[in-house]
Amino acid sequence: MEKPKLCVFCGKDESFGTMNVEHFVPRCLWDKERPAQTMTVPAHKKCNDRYSADNEYFRDMLAISEKCSKHPEVAKLNQGTLRRKLLKRRGYFVKNLKNVRVAPTYAETGLYVGHSPMFDWDWKRAETVLHNVMKGIFYAMNERPMPHEMQLDVGEVRDDADLVSLQKYVDAMCPWVGFGDDVFGARFVFHSADKYMYCLMQFYRSVTFFGSGLLSEKFAAEEQTCG
Ligand SMILES: [Zn+2]
Repeated sequence: MEKPKLCVFCGKDESFGTMNVEHFVPRCLWDKERPAQTMTVPAHKKCNDRYSADNEYFRDMLAISEKCSKHPEVAKLNQGTLRRKLLKRRGYFVKNLKNVRVAPTYAETGLYVGHSPMFDWDWKRAETVLHNVMKGIFYAMNERPMPHEMQLDVGEVRDDADLVSLQKYVDAMCPWVGFGDDVFGARFVFHSADKYMYCLMQFYRSVTFFGSGLLSEKFAAEEQTCG
């Protein structure tokens, strides 16, 4: 008998609602054409729809950030989807950007290159999206939903120092996995008995997040003493 399809988000089966095949990386990250290799996972339509506004928010915040601005897919978005959105809903970005301010910007060499607008993310919404991507990676690799008890934590990897502090986790991860382009890439490692999952999630080759999933706080404490 075929394994019952379970929803990537809530873990329940088809008797709880219509199910679709969903792309676990928000499809709105691409302007139009998505690469053919995008991995899919089952999800209730209702569960998936619940997150579409957060996915768009996450995409918008990436697309207007300085870091991602040079990526060709972001350029396409800025000329297409985002431009149309801005023209139609002028208040959108004003409403969604927190603490917009102008701050000095420096090139990688440390050279001052002028002032540019800065803003803070609504991190709760970004977290929701990143947790869902982690659930998707877990499902795609293990062919089952992530255990409910897994406690997820995500944070941005801002510089080399951050990466060094994560080295022992990163060393254990598989090489980068993508979908045929560099809009999204991930590296990950799973514990065979689901005690932990660690991953890197990179968007537009510019912004990287580290995610950890631990089965319980008790185990997290054990981990630290072993490390
Ligand atoms: Zn569901």
